[in-house]
Amino acid sequence: MHNFKKKQDIAEALFSKGRGQKKLFDRARRTRNEVFSNKVEVRSVIEYSNICRQACNYCGMSRESGLKRYIMSDDETTDSIKRLYGYGRRVLIIQSGEFHSEHLFENLLTLIKRMKENFPGLTIMGSFGNLSLPEYKIVKEAGVERYLLKFETSDSKLYKKVKPSDSLFNRLRHLEILKKTGFKVSSGNITGLPGQSVESLAEDLLLLKRLRLFMGSTSAFIPNDMSNYANWPSADINLVLNFMAILRILCPTILIPATSSLELLVKDGQYLGLMSGANVVTLHDGTPKNDEKNFVLYKKDRYKPKDVLLEIVARAGLKHSFDPLI
Ligand code: SAH
Repeated sequence: MHNFKKKQDIAEALFSKGRGQKKLFDRARRTRNEVFSNKVEVRSVIEYSNICRQACNYCGMSRESGLKRYIMSDDETTDSIKRLYGYGRRVLIIQSGEFHSEHLFENLLTLIKRMKENFPGLTIMGSFGNLSLPEYKIVKEAGVERYLLKFETSDSKLYKKVKPSDSLFNRLRHLEILKKTGFKVSSGNITGLPGQSVESLAEDLLLLKRLRLFMGSTSAFIPNDMSNYANWPSADINLVLNFMAILRILCPTILIPATSSLELLVKDGQYLGLMSGANVVTLHDGTPKNDEKNFVLYKKDRYKPKDVLLEIVARAGLKHSFDPLI
């Protein structure tokens, strides 16, 4: 059995199919079930704003895209948190494009602080891109325990190509700052980026292991119709699932989401994600109707998994938990 210490072993396993792939998935599921007793964390996402200063070629919210921009008002944000808490959710992701605004972060800080006082047991994960150290501190002090910042690819040349407005060196520096600020840090890559090799994906997995994260994720590359990469092919589903299974074996104790990008690749994609070792799903039910059409990560017509996701969890032989697993 592979121990995945060598890059070559990982690269080979990324190509798994047929019986080999079945074995890989079985091992990933066993590993997850031993650590997490068959539990899956279910959380909701609030897409706070699509304003962004970065120019990612894969993303529809790049500063260069002609998208209508929005920021959720304080009332909308408060109402959304209240409603989700009422549904029983205890883990929320608040995500946005990357922008600088002291005033806004102070606002959000006050709001989150109040929410955390009023709604006990709420865990919040922030995902606002690269901020400054004082901004990270403000976010942390507001009671945001977790932060998601993906390195996207471990290949610095590819990084520059897909995200010309930033560098891998800088992104990794931010991950270190986040750790030092005291966040539970989550990171990951995109599988299937134009120009990405299997060796480079193997490096992504080794980097995920070295970073000692609390959550590791991969999203399947989806050619976003609002982005510069609109005409590239989507990721190969088997490559993405193999990536997730190897990640589970390399890092048994972390959270791994079955992202909605999987569902955009193939029907039942998120179920397949759970069957290859994932233990988190995200419900897209926190953003006001008017705004959600302008938060375009993958596609303009988004797939919005709701209660059906809980059925998928049960079908995969797992139990959903609205409380944080870690
Ligand atoms: N502004 C924040 C949040 C970005 S959105 C930040 O920069 O961290 C969250 C993630 O969605 C990104 O980090 C990226 O990995 C993923 N993503 C965006 N567009 C994508 C696409 N077309 N296909 C697959 N993943 C994508």
